[in-house]
Amino acid sequence: MDCIFCRIAAGDVPANLVAERDDAVAFRDAHPQAPTHVLVIPREHIASVAHTSGDRSAQVLGNLKRFAVEVAATLRLAADGYRLVVNTGRNGGQTVDHLHIHLLGGRQLHWPPG
Ligand code: 5GP
Ligand code: ZN
Repeated sequence: MDCIFCRIAAGDVPANLVAERDDAVAFRDAHPQAPTHVLVIPREHIASVAHTSGDRSAQVLGNLKRFAVEVAATLRLAADGYRLVVNTGRNGGQTVDHLHIHLLGGRQLHWPPG
């Protein structure tokens, strides 16, 4: 399977890494939508949040969320706030089928999103 995020996690495709752990990687989005726009992904290929269930889902998502919050603090976004986004499927705007959390910050974000 040819997955761009698996290749980034493996180090086969260059990316601007922000942080990494045994099970997850955080890197800058190639097309940033905010002054800080980081993607937080599990190293394991999971297509979307809809592709895990039960305890496994809770563990994967819990660990990934915790990592995203840590990265936000490291990037000094915590005081002013930030947004975590998980686009899922076609209507959700998901374009890369490898689970990822968008971490967006550094400006006032609008609601509702487009
Ligand atoms: P999605 O639309 O699936 O929620 O988000 C995918 C994100 O991945 C997009 O914001 C897009 O800019 C980013 N992206 C796609 N390909 C690459 C890449 O090769 N490198 C990096 N750093 N970001 C990418
Ligand atoms: Zn993948």
